[in-house]
Amino acid sequence: MYKYTKLIFDADNTLFDFDRAEEYALIQTLQHFKMPVPEGLVDFYRSINVPLWEQLDAKLITIKELKQKRAEQLFEFIGKRADFNAFSHQYLNELANQPVLLPTVEPTLEELAPHCEMAIITNGLSQVQNTRFALSSIKHHFKVMVISEEVGMSKPDPEIFAHACDLMQWSNPKEVLMVGDNYRADIQGAAQFGMQTCWFNIRQQDHDYTDHHHEIRVFDELLRHL
Ligand SMILES: [Mg+2]
Repeated sequence: MYKYTKLIFDADNTLFDFDRAEEYALIQTLQHFKMPVPEGLVDFYRSINVPLWEQLDAKLITIKELKQKRAEQLFEFIGKRADFNAFSHQYLNELANQPVLLPTVEPTLEELAPHCEMAIITNGLSQVQNTRFALSSIKHHFKVMVISEEVGMSKPDPEIFAHACDLMQWSNPKEVLMVGDNYRADIQGAAQFGMQTCWFNIRQQDHDYTDHHHEIRVFDELLRHL
């Protein structure tokens, strides 16, 4: 019998290969608008995107501002402009149509499914998350997907973990294992709400973090901790 049978997963870079999807979507979108794809583009994009998402999580900017600032900086880097709304819409469509899973996710979830109840909490955008999830091969394993944009709160706010537990009718957070790659949002947020945590150290970084209960570097290592 498993030690944990109530599981919550993050979506991007925990279940889905977001890095690959992002790169593909970006290049497809630029080609759609007949824009050049300069050397170093993907790295540049990540270097602007990550801090913007951090500002969004800290409620310093809105999602609309995030999309706008991201496009502005990108156009500047490329040296060519497109209509920002059309560009943003196209990019999110491309992203939504990339339900690429990380290695070992599918067989691991198959193995867990008969024994565990599973949910997702994601800080992603509704348009992307809902479409991609519907296209994915793993959707039938999950009873609930909480999307930050839809509920008006985001990880690491303990309220969003409480909301997911309510939807799953789980009364004791200590019995729930949160699995995610983002240390602050997924691990520290869930730990603050009293959950057990498994950090997916997907970038295999050396660290001296101590707030998590378990660590995995490849998805199927999760089975060892259950
Ligand atoms: Mg993630």
